[in-house]
Amino acid sequence: MAAERGQDLVSRDQRVAWHPYASPECSPLFAVESAQGVRLRLADGREVVDGMSSWWAAIHGYGQPAIVEAIREQAGRMAHVMFGGLTHEPAVALCEKLVALAPPGLSRVFLSDSGSVAMEIAIKLALQYARAIGRPERSRLLTVRGGYHGDTFGAMAVCDPVTGMHGLFRDALPEHLFAPRPACAYHEACEAHHVEEFARLIREHRDEIAAVVLEPIVQGAGGMWFYAPDYLRAVRALCDECEVLLVADEIATGFGRSGEFFGCDHAGVVPDVMSVGKALTGGAMSLAATLVSDQVCAGLAAGEPGVFMHGPTFMGNPLACAAALASLQLLDESPWRSRVHAIETQLAAELAPCRELPQVADVRALGAIGVVELHEPVDMQVVQPAFVEEGVWIRPFGTLVYTMPPYGIERADLSLVTGAICRVIDRHCRVPA
Ligand SMILES: *Cc1c(COP(=O)(O)O)cnc(C)c1O
Repeated sequence: MAAERGQDLVSRDQRVAWHPYASPECSPLFAVESAQGVRLRLADGREVVDGMSSWWAAIHGYGQPAIVEAIREQAGRMAHVMFGGLTHEPAVALCEKLVALAPPGLSRVFLSDSGSVAMEIAIKLALQYARAIGRPERSRLLTVRGGYHGDTFGAMAVCDPVTGMHGLFRDALPEHLFAPRPACAYHEACEAHHVEEFARLIREHRDEIAAVVLEPIVQGAGGMWFYAPDYLRAVRALCDECEVLLVADEIATGFGRSGEFFGCDHAGVVPDVMSVGKALTGGAMSLAATLVSDQVCAGLAAGEPGVFMHGPTFMGNPLACAAALASLQLLDESPWRSRVHAIETQLAAELAPCRELPQVADVRALGAIGVVELHEPVDMQVVQPAFVEEGVWIRPFGTLVYTMPPYGIERADLSLVTGAICRVIDRHCRVPA
């Protein structure tokens, strides 16, 4: 009965809905009935342990009473009002909280609805700032390869030019500057030659560059790569030397995922502009924010037209702000740092055996992120159902099989996830010729 209902839902979906990075008729596809703690309950009655936190977002797991109650309570008072000319407690309290949590000097918050939009805002701020201070020729961005910043056009233009969508949309994208992916891994020393090409590009093009845009320490969807904090320090120093803004995309790294509260905290670096999203509401609502330094804020305000030219309709949505406040409070009250550290230790130990498999190119863990990189892309038609059979929800892409579970996951559940990863790769992934 339940199985039929699930199958019916999948069939209806396949007629009308479109899924992320999928052909119009998405397959394989699984219907979810509900989610509680670290488990998703499928419509056919099976339960799977969520190894993805719904793409980095559900850091506390699902159905957290404090977040559910905050949304319910706020919905009774006011679900939404426009933010143009109006303000309200949830938005103000959230901006105060974000400023208190952020690296020092990031003291102004622009709220938006999603990570991609928060990056559009960051890029637009950098460009408008350049104009405002009388440097309109600074209209390009410098980034590193292997990045991912979202799917809108401005964000897409700084995604990795190969794994991103540059080929498909070449004529519609601005041409930015790309340094190599930071080659020094997280635990490796960053030497002069690692930064050489980045340094050459920023010095040579300093008069054209409005900002450097990158993900601090953890590159997410562009390759799941962890790089050395010293690289980020070198980038900050070069930005200072060339008077170029540093935009940190903390949308995946923010709120403890990498073991520090923000990715930048690994290096003690303060960016000029910083975007957060994903885990901001604990995965309950869509919300993002762009934090801005005093200098950028004042510079922009002093120039023409003196206002920032952006304003989403659902900016500062009270339901989402209330969810974010509840989530941040939960984080405050939880021993997230020791939990994330324990997850890192367990992921490193339990994924290590994968290294022996002929399919596997690399295994790495940082914070509550575990990655197994294969030599060849997985076949999702085979691998996705195999993971569900194993009782876990893992969503690989390309050559990357990875997990970033909710912080509260129990040891045994995490072992289920890591065991499934090793077994599915062993049994269902192709051995290179
Ligand atoms: C997911 C992500 C984005 C885009 O966020 P959306 O909410 O999907 O628009 C941007 N940057 C990074 C680093 C991300 O991981």
